[in-house]
Amino acid sequence: MFYYLWTEGCQMNVGDSRRLAGTLEALGYQSAARPEDADVIVLNTCVVRQSAEDKAYGRLTSLRPLKERNPNLVINLMGCLVGLREPNGLRKRFPYVDVFSPPSDPRPLIEYLVSERGARASEEMLSLLQSVSPSGPARAAPRFPLFPLRSENGLQAAALVPIVLGCSHACTYCIIPYRRGGERSLPVEQILAEVRTLVQSGAREVTLLGQIVDRYGKDTGGPGLPALLRKVHAVDGLERIRFLTSHPNWMSDELLEAAAALPKVCEHIEVPLQAGDDEVLARMKRGYTAEEYRRLIGRIRMYIPNASIATDIIVGFPGETEAQFQQTSDLLAELRLDTAHLARYSPRPDTFATRNYPDDVPSEEKMRRFRALEDLQERIAAEKNAALLGQTLTVLVEGQHKDRWYGRTRTNRPVFFDDPSRNWTAQLAPVEITRTSAWSLQGSVK
Ligand code: SF4
Repeated sequence: MFYYLWTEGCQMNVGDSRRLAGTLEALGYQSAARPEDADVIVLNTCVVRQSAEDKAYGRLTSLRPLKERNPNLVINLMGCLVGLREPNGLRKRFPYVDVFSPPSDPRPLIEYLVSERGARASEEMLSLLQSVSPSGPARAAPRFPLFPLRSENGLQAAALVPIVLGCSHACTYCIIPYRRGGERSLPVEQILAEVRTLVQSGAREVTLLGQIVDRYGKDTGGPGLPALLRKVHAVDGLERIRFLTSHPNWMSDELLEAAAALPKVCEHIEVPLQAGDDEVLARMKRGYTAEEYRRLIGRIRMYIPNASIATDIIVGFPGETEAQFQQTSDLLAELRLDTAHLARYSPRPDTFATRNYPDDVPSEEKMRRFRALEDLQERIAAEKNAALLGQTLTVLVEGQHKDRWYGRTRTNRPVFFDDPSRNWTAQLAPVEITRTSAWSLQGSVK
């Protein structure tokens, strides 16, 4: 029996798909290279922008002929297109979908395969399935453990470990709280168990994930992220730790101190700015000003001098004037961050912004602003990467792409190199940088 997993969207979705893949393999399924070869097809969806939602509908529609040819095919729609609500509209629109699953919850599919398709589940899995009924709110669901992957892509040098699900912030443009629910921190022991499982299956690096990862433990009153970092740091065999995504309001000095003091914690911070104008930030309900963000970058660079800093920017938010956009551009030019993930504002259903602000920045203007920041950031990234020429950097090798080894530095820069003499997968390679571009580095093993 074979499964095919299609994943769209953020690292949280990638981590959720990894969990589901391990659970399906624990049930005896194997990974198929093409949907045509699968008995179970899972679409793990994203709706953070209209384009991602349209992609999911396109994929769903493309599966109908497969189902007509093979009525025994199981189709599972999962993720943020489904959300936590009852997917009645989706059921009517896509009657050939067998199972609808909330984000981060493999349970409905596993239950369906066990009860409707005779899949043989272990005692552990059966007790998990019995512990909470599928109709209960996902927030109450005990988490499915992370089963080791048996398929050939089982060895993951760098793995993702969700630590906070959902988000209780209320940025006016964001659909995530509506689809993933309020924040819920996962138990420390469960996180440590997952990290150990991943290290035992070959991982050397873990990334601790959350929409606002710095708020870990705030909802439970338990240990916070600094304490969790120290516990994860103590796991034998682990070489590197990353955490994302941060929020300017929750990056404490204690967190930066811990990140600076713990050798395995990589010098890489992801903290979205979104806009550089205070009036726009206020209407986004981000909860900070451009000046406060500027001071935060100063604090990060004080605690972690060689930190690489990545940010997110939305251009064309309703009402954003040319002058306000220029504020964003000027701040990005001033701060010279390492990476900027850019997006054009996309109205999302149910959000405060969609209900209250007309989407009044024309799409050509959104594209002009997007391109302007893209060009600016490309120049900054190229200059920063050029400064690494001749240096020897330690790269955790994640695999091969077109016969070239690839991996990332501690500062999250992608590096490519050739060395047919050995298998570098999940190894730390000392690479001397011989070529640079804005987006990646190339070199040879020292
Ligand atoms: S912090 Fe804001 S943008 Fe990020 S997930 Fe939460 S609501 Fe969305």
